Amino acid sequence: MSWSGREIRLVARPQGIADEELFEVVETTVPDPGEGQLVVRNVYLSVDPYMRGRMNDMRSYVSPYSLGEAMTGGAVGRVVASHHPDFAEGDWVFHMLGWREFALSDGRSVFRIDPSFAPVSTALGVLGMPGFTAWYGLLELGRPKEGETVFVSAAGGAVGSAAGQIARIVGCRAIGSAGSEEKLAWLRELGFDATFNYRETAVRDALRELAPDGIDVYFDNVGGDHLEAAIGAMRNLGRVVACGAISRYNDPEPAPGPRNLFMLFTKRLTMQGFIISDHYDRLPEFLAQAGPWVREGRLRYRETIIEGIENAPRAFLGLFGGENVGKMLVKVGPDE
Ligand code: NDP
Repeated sequence: MSWSGREIRLVARPQGIADEELFEVVETTVPDPGEGQLVVRNVYLSVDPYMRGRMNDMRSYVSPYSLGEAMTGGAVGRVVASHHPDFAEGDWVFHMLGWREFALSDGRSVFRIDPSFAPVSTALGVLGMPGFTAWYGLLELGRPKEGETVFVSAAGGAVGSAAGQIARIVGCRAIGSAGSEEKLAWLRELGFDATFNYRETAVRDALRELAPDGIDVYFDNVGGDHLEAAIGAMRNLGRVVACGAISRYNDPEPAPGPRNLFMLFTKRLTMQGFIISDHYDRLPEFLAQAGPWVREGRLRYRETIIEGIENAPRAFLGLFGGENVGKMLVKVGPDE
């Protein structure tokens, strides 16, 4: 038996802002699995900001995508055939083979998911890499103390919405910035203490008004003007968690950094970056803590689901225009 499906390949590299012309939809056939292999029918594909970096031919913490090959990344699906001892037909799994309808795998980086624990899509969002990023970055590097003020940018997205809620869970005041009224309303529902639309109010002015005594932790998803304004608003001994800089990912050349970096020493600040894949030994601890939070409704999530694999590039590019509320996913198969 074999399976016919489509995959999305990168066929050209972006110069500045990425567009749909860089991708191609290709019909493929996946053969019956050999010994030690399995075939997965994908149901949800993840589109993530870090993929923009992999589209450039540049050395980084993760290798660039090769032209003419399918876009790899997180995906969730069901095993439709297996000759692998650890996986059986019908199992729900997470894997990293990315933007394709059917995936042939040797079992590496494939993990079984328990669908009775939470909806399987959460393995790509609040209980997957983005939620883990928020948990690790905030608690380990932000070291928030009860009563402190935490500012989170891109707070209406997958990582940011979790980071702000975790700040609240540990007793902090959470301020979130996002680019639409719909996102701000959702953040208030989640319990954020203050929110602002960075497209309407300069970050510096908003922080001056919403945190007149300053902020203790800045969870940075955006970089650029957000980072500069946050450094300006930090209290002494504050912590900047450098998680991402989405406002800069489409820049053809690196832009100059914050003009007020001298405040790192005048205010005795700490700024630390991290890559979550370095910390997967902490994943069981994250799941043990965040799983119950999700089940109890203390850590809530939303998903923006785009249907059809042919729309994966559009969904991905939509991240840079703020088209997602919560986690952006692409649905490519039945989830019953
Ligand atoms: P999101 O779900 O937050 O989606 C991206 C959001 O970024 C958009 O919805 C948009 O929301 C906002 N955005 C886009 N362009 C801009 C801009 N120019 N200025 C301000 N906001 C912008 O994505 P994730 O939660 O997956 O990722 C959030 C950040 O975390 C990214 O920077 C990502 O690279 C980083 N990350 C880092 C990891 C690590 O290991 N260090 C791991 C995972 C993610 P809006 O409407 O508010 O503009």
